[in-house]
Amino acid sequence: MQTDVAIIGAGPAGLALAVALKGSGLDVTLIERSPEASLAAPAFDGREIALTHRSQAILRDLGAWDRLTETEIAPLGEARVINGAFPLALRFAPPASGEPLGRLVPNHAIRRVLFETVSGPVGTRLLAGCEVTDLALAAEAARLRLDSGEEIAARLVVAADSRFSAARRRAGIGAEMLDFGRSMIVCRMAHERPHDATATEWFGHRQTIAMLPLHGAASSAVLTLAPDEAARMLALDPESFGAEVARRYERRLGAMRLISTRHVYPLVAVYAHRFAGRRFALLGDAAVGMHPVTAHGFNFGLSGAVLLAAELRRAVARGIDPGASGALSYYASAHRRATLPLFLATNAVARLYGDHRAPARLARAALIGAGAALPVVRRAIVARLMDARPALSAG
Ligand SMILES: Cc1cc2nc3c(=O)[nH]c(=O)nc-3n(C[C@H](O)[C@H](O)[C@H](O)COP(=O)(O)OP(=O)(O)OC[C@H]3O[C@@H](n4cnc5c(N)ncnc54)[C@H](O)[C@@H]3O)c2cc1C
Repeated sequence: MQTDVAIIGAGPAGLALAVALKGSGLDVTLIERSPEASLAAPAFDGREIALTHRSQAILRDLGAWDRLTETEIAPLGEARVINGAFPLALRFAPPASGEPLGRLVPNHAIRRVLFETVSGPVGTRLLAGCEVTDLALAAEAARLRLDSGEEIAARLVVAADSRFSAARRRAGIGAEMLDFGRSMIVCRMAHERPHDATATEWFGHRQTIAMLPLHGAASSAVLTLAPDEAARMLALDPESFGAEVARRYERRLGAMRLISTRHVYPLVAVYAHRFAGRRFALLGDAAVGMHPVTAHGFNFGLSGAVLLAAELRRAVARGIDPGASGALSYYASAHRRATLPLFLATNAVARLYGDHRAPARLARAALIGAGAALPVVRRAIVARLMDARPALSAG
């Protein structure tokens, strides 16, 4: 089979690129190892994605946002960061525009609406239930082999196959990997007291607990723990788990009850050494796998998809080969500039907040104190979250 663009991975980033390339004139083939049924109706995976205003605008322009139901969108009114038992909290509130800081949407709902959008009448070719087992990048074409034995020749291969991308490795691109040695348990909890649309990140002793506000008296709990402790928590029955989360959270939201399945993720941040090469580009977590504490992984995946699509459209308009390095180099450098500062800052913050020794605890208190006293710092962070620059520069 021959195609212009082969996208490996129909996760949210790969799907967003496929949608953004609709109508570009490029023949797009999406290759995904999961079966089609699980793409059409993805299962809850515990993740609630905090979307910036720009990401919401991109999803709207792609035609995906309006497919979300009202109950799938939860406003994020305010965010607070608390350090251990220190009374001072760092608060991030939007300016008095009436708009929330951001909005939370479940990851599986984002996947569903992007899949619905991509599967229109002039749909992208989908090869679901297929795994890429081999990749060769040559000057005239990229060649992919699937586990079915099928071979695909593509002018460009885009790998959006997760932070542990096998395609990145096959393309000979290395990555910085930072293993925080922690696991994250994510699930939904109902609670006694209201959350007031406020997300709270609490850095306690040997644990971090984030509570993200959902509809009603319910939150998404994100517990960052040592892996053995996470395994012990997962072994608890639902009732004991609810009581244990409430206890660990010092009953700030009162009694708690588990209302979803529980999911666990290893905490590993990844940054690829290069985002593009001959007939090859990296997208989503395969390029930048963020630590979730600053909630930017998918926001970057989405902005990267739009940026890459715009470059490919430009190449088509100028009659340039979309797999030629000239068409990819602007994407690679612009996406690096957009992501590297926050990637480094996030890791520094995550390291500081994951360190339980006394000097680190004091440094955190000092940082929160300084942040609380410096409105300019808070305003800069809020501005980043509320960034509502034009969504699509494609065309
Ligand atoms: C607990 C948690 C909370 C998060 N919160 C936020 C947040 O608030 N805001 C935010 O912006 N981001 C957040 N993120 C990050 C966000 O979830 C990711 O950035 C996003 O899901 C990455 O999408 P992706 O498409 O790049 O990769 P993935 O979602 O990993 O998808 C990769 C796809 O590729 C497929 N695949 C892999 N290998 C192959 C192969 N060989 N052949 C074919 N298919 C293959 C997989 O089956 C999968 O469907 C969070 C992450 C976690 C873990």
